[in-house]
Amino acid sequence: MSNIPYAMTIDGQRVFATEVATAINPATETPICDYPLGTRKQLDAAVESSHRAFLGWRVTDLRERQQMVSKLGDVIEHNYEAFIRLLITEQGKGRAAAEWEIGGSIHWLREIAKQSLQEEVVEDKDGNRIITRYTPIGVIGAITPWNFPLLLAVWKIAPALVAGNTMVVKPSPYTPLCTLWFGELAQSVLPPGVLNVVSGGNELGQWMTEHPDIGKIAFTGSTDTGKKVMQSASINLKRVTLELGGNDPAIVLPDVDPKKIAKDLFWASFANSSQFCVACKRLYIHEDVYDDVARELVAYAKTVKVGNGIDVGVELGPLQNKMQYEKVCNLLQDCKDRGLKFLLGGEVSHGTPGYFIPVTLIDNPPEDSRCVVEEAFGPVLPLLKYRDIDEVVARANATIYGLAASVWGQDTVKAEKIAQRIEAGTVWINQIHTFAPNIAFGGHKQSGVGIENSLHGLAEYANTQTMMRKALA
Ligand code: NAD
Repeated sequence: MSNIPYAMTIDGQRVFATEVATAINPATETPICDYPLGTRKQLDAAVESSHRAFLGWRVTDLRERQQMVSKLGDVIEHNYEAFIRLLITEQGKGRAAAEWEIGGSIHWLREIAKQSLQEEVVEDKDGNRIITRYTPIGVIGAITPWNFPLLLAVWKIAPALVAGNTMVVKPSPYTPLCTLWFGELAQSVLPPGVLNVVSGGNELGQWMTEHPDIGKIAFTGSTDTGKKVMQSASINLKRVTLELGGNDPAIVLPDVDPKKIAKDLFWASFANSSQFCVACKRLYIHEDVYDDVARELVAYAKTVKVGNGIDVGVELGPLQNKMQYEKVCNLLQDCKDRGLKFLLGGEVSHGTPGYFIPVTLIDNPPEDSRCVVEEAFGPVLPLLKYRDIDEVVARANATIYGLAASVWGQDTVKAEKIAQRIEAGTVWINQIHTFAPNIAFGGHKQSGVGIENSLHGLAEYANTQTMMRKALA
């Protein structure tokens, strides 16, 4: 157990709660430390302080707000190594993945800090001036999941603050530590109340979505929870941005070189131990290259080191929590009950500590298998054979989800034509998981509502206001 007491940040102050929960290291199943279980009263205090701070923050010069948001990147950078180790310990990911997330958080804070929403002049003639301008919403409630705890909080914090809002952030109860610590460090840069961080269970998230003085919820998590968020946000017609689940297809065309492509396809699916909303979760391979791609994938997978992320050279860690571990074990059991063939993995060793699931490749299961239809959110990948393009496009689109997809082939023109037919918010061609502060990201269908990142994402933290001015006659 760590000696550092993790605290919530409310109105610029460190705040504890009478009740606590314990954060668990998923690689060892040992306790890391306790953290506060915030109460409804403490949430009210956070929202109130955010309201008070909003009055000043909204009129703070844009340049000053941008500078402060950029400085939040410096705050993380000054504590880079400690953040990396804390993230590995609480989330379970390997060092390279932790560097991607912590480095990404710094980068996003600095780059989003350069963005702004410009007024648009609709008409300006004969003393008649019409403009579209953007005003902040007020208090934003941000609710985040456990797969990329700090980065997904930053994706909300940076644009919300730049646009002139103040915030209450609630991390996942499974991974609260990086966000609590960041909230505390941020107070050296921001006025009190601009960024509050509260921790607690799922009920705290629900209280936020119901809170009458929160103007918008920015949520990343599962589709089921997203629906609940949308429903209770209707109480005061809160704005919502929902980044939800996915069951992303990848389509491999017959002209690929299986040996060359195997590594990229592997990481497309297994990065962050597949706890990635945009992981490739269904791999459609043309029948001409199916056997070769499958063989190369198995060969590459055997070279990847799985273990405790804190150990040197480990590339894949455990699942983050017991609930998810049991869910994936159950999915594997279903694969066995159906008599599906494993090309690799499938056997969980229950006797050792840590929520480890071996990399599992399933050989051409029926399209209605649970491992094809459900979002596994764990390292279980179905390889699926297809013959023609119309058929594979129909199969790729036959899902309630529409988060992302990828198409892989030598002939990029042909690949792009196929990509255009996929119902998803992002479609990558011969690449995957390319994100940037200026690239819009959001889901189609039941994968989400709204956009994060880019000026489209920034605009989601503002109300649109039309201003019409005319001289008196
Ligand atoms: P989750 O929905 O269980 O929890 C997400 C957050 O919501 C947590 O902070 C949780 O405490 C809170 N919460 C739970 N019940 C709530 C309620 N009734 N009201 C308000 N808040 C509530 O999701 P998870 O298991 O933490 O994350 C995994 C899911 O997130 C996967 O489905 C994954 O695909 C998705 N995800 C999506 C994206 C994206 O950008 N689209 C990114 C990462 C993860």
